[in-house]
Amino acid sequence: MSSSGVYSCSCKIGPSILNGDLSCLGDECKRMMDAGADYLHLDVMDGHFVPNITFGATMVKWLRKKQPGVFFDLHMMVSEPEKWVDEMADAGANQYTFHLEATENPRDLIKQIRNRGMKVGIGIKPGTPVEKVLPYVSDVDMVLIMTVEPGFGGQKFMADMMPKVKHLRRNHPGLDIEVDGGVGLSTIATAAEAGANMIVSGSAVVKSPDPKSVITQLREITEKWIKQNAQQQTQ
Ligand SMILES: [Zn+2]
Repeated sequence: MSSSGVYSCSCKIGPSILNGDLSCLGDECKRMMDAGADYLHLDVMDGHFVPNITFGATMVKWLRKKQPGVFFDLHMMVSEPEKWVDEMADAGANQYTFHLEATENPRDLIKQIRNRGMKVGIGIKPGTPVEKVLPYVSDVDMVLIMTVEPGFGGQKFMADMMPKVKHLRRNHPGLDIEVDGGVGLSTIATAAEAGANMIVSGSAVVKSPDPKSVITQLREITEKWIKQNAQQQTQ
């Protein structure tokens, strides 16, 4: 959609509340938005595509009531992502990010998501080469490069995924590229230098005594690299 042309992506910080207190998710979301988050990254796990289970559309629906104006990026770590498009749209999801590995028909799924008025994100696991996602990049709003194996919080950031981000950024200066997994103050520069502009941060933000300061720093570093990479592109 917005993937070609000039270097036009902007920095967005989206905390993942996966490591927060799930029994008070509504408060947790509010705490993150008050700390300066741009959007919320909601990790949906089905116990099948990934070993863990988190929550489904009912939870999203209630969160939506508490946070009417916030952009919800639904990270669907589920098998048969086709099954939940309608429910998540009805629940108030803004973006439906599915895993390429989970579907046989990415093109039909992309259409199905658009027909329900949501933005489309497509994610790949660490073992999936970036080449596999390239045929779909111009049809989606965002590409998610997993920087850990999906399914658990608190894992170590995989810097060896950065060539995927660089490859996408080189060819799609305006594309929203999201990184997810192990992103915090010690790893953000690596991700931002490679070209990521949508930053999912879990433990580093949620478990910090001062989430506002962490989000501010993540933003400053990401914006610095967006500027720098854009300059390099025009040179
Ligand atoms: Zn996620």
